[in-house]
Amino acid sequence: MHKKLVSVVIPMYYEEKVAEECCKRLKRVMDSCGYPYELIFVNDGSRDGTQGILEQLAGRDNRVKVIAFSRNFGHQAAVTAGIDKAGGSAIVIIDADLQDPPELIIEMLRLWEQGYEVVYAKRKRRKGESFFKRVSASLFYRVLDMLSDTRIPVDTGDFRLIDAKAADVLRNMREKDRFLRGMVSWVGFRQVPVEYEREERYAGETKYPLKKMIKLALDGIFSFSYKPLKLSQYLGFFAVISVPLIFTRDAIMAAVVFLGGVQLISIGILGEYIGRIHEESKGRPLYIIEKEINIDDEK
Ligand code: UDP
Ligand code: MG
Repeated sequence: MHKKLVSVVIPMYYEEKVAEECCKRLKRVMDSCGYPYELIFVNDGSRDGTQGILEQLAGRDNRVKVIAFSRNFGHQAAVTAGIDKAGGSAIVIIDADLQDPPELIIEMLRLWEQGYEVVYAKRKRRKGESFFKRVSASLFYRVLDMLSDTRIPVDTGDFRLIDAKAADVLRNMREKDRFLRGMVSWVGFRQVPVEYEREERYAGETKYPLKKMIKLALDGIFSFSYKPLKLSQYLGFFAVISVPLIFTRDAIMAAVVFLGGVQLISIGILGEYIGRIHEESKGRPLYIIEKEINIDDEK
């Protein structure tokens, strides 16, 4: 039987310490399951040895493909570029640092063959991550679940398999502040989880400092929910009805401060949405490619 092409997309930001091992493990897994495959490494503006290593790997094997960005556009943009260029009937998205065990891809492919268009990897446990990261991540997924109108599965990152059908829809979703795991949920089709234990990073440090984590969390919330606007309405309403109940001087001061706070919070929430509209209205590309290796755009 002629098997269908599987594309694996791997975003990389300063990953010189893991690049070779990552490619080796992925090849071993992909060789074992017998599908023709391509590995699409996206160098998200790393200026360390990452690009050199990727070019070597691509030179030895033309199933290894490289997309290099002109600068750091962020993890979500890197994954987007990989999906844009992937030619597979199924596309697997996986982190470079081997925290997502490549061996799970075998199970994902099995479920895909059963007819699921999206197989997402759900973290049962996280190893070797700080207490703060585990607690903040867990809290974030639950808050997002509360706020969002799209059902976005909790404890699920971008490690997943998506069928070409879902990928085609994603390719046409060019929104700027991207929260891909939410966008994939939004697309629909048949989606199924596989559980796994998140490993420790193979080498190097996390490339997701607090600032990037907060940005991703805010993108998740503001791109998938209008409830923060509702919240500012409720706050305002609450402030207005509570003020006439108070008459003493100090209480009036308190009311003024309280009202000021409510107004600032509300303006801040509005600002988040308006900033995103502004970003969208500029219509800039999601990423800029400096160099491509082994990519044929004749799909
Ligand atoms: N990454 C990226 N661009 C960035 C930050 C991260 O392409 O600006 C990649 C990184 O190389 C890795 C994946 O995104 O393959 C997840 O990053 P990391 O493992 O550092 O995040 P963590 O697992 O600590 O949340
Ligand atoms: Mg990681």
